[in-house]
Amino acid sequence: MPSADKNEQERQLDYPMGERVPQPGEALPMAGVDGLRWVRMQLPFALDHINLWALRDELDGRPGWTLVDCGITNETTRTQWEQVFATGLDGLPVLRLLVTHMHPDHIGLAHWLTRRWTSAEHECRMWISGTDFNAARIASQSTTGFGGEAAARFMASHGLSSPEAMDKIRQRSNYYSSMVPQVPERHRRLMDGDTVCTSIPGGTGPARWTALAGYGHAPEHISLHDAERGVLISGDMVLPRISTNVSVIDLEPEADPLALYLQSLARLRALPDETLVLPSHGRPFRGLRRRIDQLTAHHDERFAEVMRACRAAPQTAADLLPVLFRRPLDLHQTTFAMGESIAHLNALWHRGQLRRNRGADGVFRFSIA
Ligand SMILES: [Zn+2]
Repeated sequence: MPSADKNEQERQLDYPMGERVPQPGEALPMAGVDGLRWVRMQLPFALDHINLWALRDELDGRPGWTLVDCGITNETTRTQWEQVFATGLDGLPVLRLLVTHMHPDHIGLAHWLTRRWTSAEHECRMWISGTDFNAARIASQSTTGFGGEAAARFMASHGLSSPEAMDKIRQRSNYYSSMVPQVPERHRRLMDGDTVCTSIPGGTGPARWTALAGYGHAPEHISLHDAERGVLISGDMVLPRISTNVSVIDLEPEADPLALYLQSLARLRALPDETLVLPSHGRPFRGLRRRIDQLTAHHDERFAEVMRACRAAPQTAADLLPVLFRRPLDLHQTTFAMGESIAHLNALWHRGQLRRNRGADGVFRFSIA
């Protein structure tokens, strides 16, 4: 999407914190949400930061904090967490960790954080969906859709042919484990509809967060909704500036994650429009329905572009990269873009609007059904 459109779309949202974002090592109180602080960690990618949240809490009679998400495993992030612990949390301990989903920027430091805050008297537990817990444990120990031989073969079957790109994908088999070397051995399973209570300082009773499972971006992503105060910790399901990555990977070649993602968005659209959305990337905003409508329209436009191209001639996912992404892509971006291109093709194929054929070269080509 051209950046002018993106700026125009961003202007349609309301950012209650303005340009203010937390500095490294700062836990910034969220205006209007008592007991909730905003922490931001750097990421070494084009997407250069992640938002994390600290919620005032009390567990087993012990006052402290619940953290939502962690940042990736590296020294900078650990140092900045230590700074937050020293100055940002009123001297209180971290009691538990909620992880929205298995991606490295969200779960990376979970192992370190839960150990850091486990003592003889208290076990700091990670809460996460069962699906993402298991997916993260497997991914941290083996090659998965992020790189390696199986990923390279899968990309080749969708038309990626540059030997250089193939080599790089093959070599990236430790991509996930480099950022998530370990996952906590134990977890508490979060399921759709669960209520997670945290504290509101001042004795106005607990904050009640409802876990909302969302699909298509991660195996089973959990967002947290406080209906009473009108706050949604959206994770990666709804982001204000960029569209959420929805990819097909080699572990499930025929998957239709876009259909799942769009269904999940439709469900979130039923929440009140004035909901304060706390996203994992970008700034807290209001305008949930408008943003979901923008995202839905964005995917509809892409579906139309894919259909137009397939009407002219059969297309592979690789053929569609210049149609869907009108900018040069480096290798990291190319693998994500391939995953997204396959996601659009698979969605139209599952809807019966496209059919696919596999040529003698082993490559899938999609044409009008
Ligand atoms: Zn994610």
